[in-house]
Amino acid sequence: MKLGVLKESKEKEKRVALTPELVKQLIKKEFEILIEQGAGDESKFSDSDYIAAGASIASKSEICNTDVILKVNAPTLEEANLMKNGAISISLLYAYTQKELLEVFKTKQISAFAMDAVPRISRAQKMDALSSQANLAGYKSVIMAADALGKIFPLMMTAAGTITPAKVLIFGAGVAGLQAIATAKRLGAVVEVSDVRLETKEQVESLGGRFLVVEGADEVKTEGGYAKEVSAEFLAKQKKLVEDKIKDADIVITTALVIGKKSPLLVTEEMVKSMKSGSVIVDMAVESGGNCELSEFNKTVVKHGVTIIGESNLPALLPINASQLYATNISTLLLHLANKEGFKWEMEEDITKGALITHQGELVHEFTKSILS
Ligand code: NAD
Repeated sequence: MKLGVLKESKEKEKRVALTPELVKQLIKKEFEILIEQGAGDESKFSDSDYIAAGASIASKSEICNTDVILKVNAPTLEEANLMKNGAISISLLYAYTQKELLEVFKTKQISAFAMDAVPRISRAQKMDALSSQANLAGYKSVIMAADALGKIFPLMMTAAGTITPAKVLIFGAGVAGLQAIATAKRLGAVVEVSDVRLETKEQVESLGGRFLVVEGADEVKTEGGYAKEVSAEFLAKQKKLVEDKIKDADIVITTALVIGKKSPLLVTEEMVKSMKSGSVIVDMAVESGGNCELSEFNKTVVKHGVTIIGESNLPALLPINASQLYATNISTLLLHLANKEGFKWEMEEDITKGALITHQGELVHEFTKSILS
């Protein structure tokens, strides 16, 4: 079977779907691999690295003519139209935002798998691109915030006086939040954390963070490890609890996500006004509406003396590691679904069912159907 890797075209995207290392591993399994010219340049993998690993370099149209087309971001309409009928596409599709693309997939009988829809079950951990990328994003959020802050993180006792540690407040202790806690602690900050899921308290504490308990938090429902939407009453109590903490924080990092919903608003303009001049907010949820009222998509703005970073693609700022991990995720999914002879199409199997969006001219994914209907 022939696999093709397209060069990413989204603005500021620097990742690539396969690294030379993973090309080598797939070639051992007898796949033939074509890489679009320059696809790895921004992640520092050159065409000659891919050739040395056993791949061939090809044009966009040649890649689109392969059996399975691999990407980080969803294919563009132009790319989808170039694909042959019955091809297979694997990418971070976010299908519910891709109505027009899904129509092309249906017309051309393209089977599309979404990396973002791989179920978060233990069997699929190695395929979990959302987690691998969020982990790196959590790290980078702290590094960016540290860079924008005119202060250091650790306690420092010098002959000229003592510098007190920076205070970091983190909302959401999921994958991104936990890595942000670990990174901020390693740099020497004092870290406080708020999450609606009380079950994260132990994990936060094991990383050296202080968990802020909202009264009534033990009643918050979860589904598959994800928080369900909480009541307005809960959010009001949480707001009261964090208001004082925010006044004191040097850095606020927000990662609060409720799957399938707009992100909860946690940092209001009033709260930003109450913060110290020079402090920094990183709103990691900016793409799904934002946790901070004043964050702007893909921009860094200064409002009321506070720097607010709204970067939506933090993993692309660490393209080497992000591509390495993504390449492992996508290859593991591919090897789960297929061998050199072709795809197995086990339609009732959890991972296939969870990640397959379009097949044989139909939209087959229930969650995507429910959002688009
Ligand atoms: P996750 O599902 O693992 O974690 C989200 C956490 O938010 C959960 O622990 C949940 O309980 C918590 N939460 C929900 N409502 C909350 C509230 N009101 N207060 C406090 N916590 C609340 O998700 P993740 O993989 O860690 O990703 C977190 C966010 O970061 C998502 O919005 C994701 O889209 C975003 N993200 C952004 C980038 C970027 O580059 N900006 C990269 C990766 C992920």
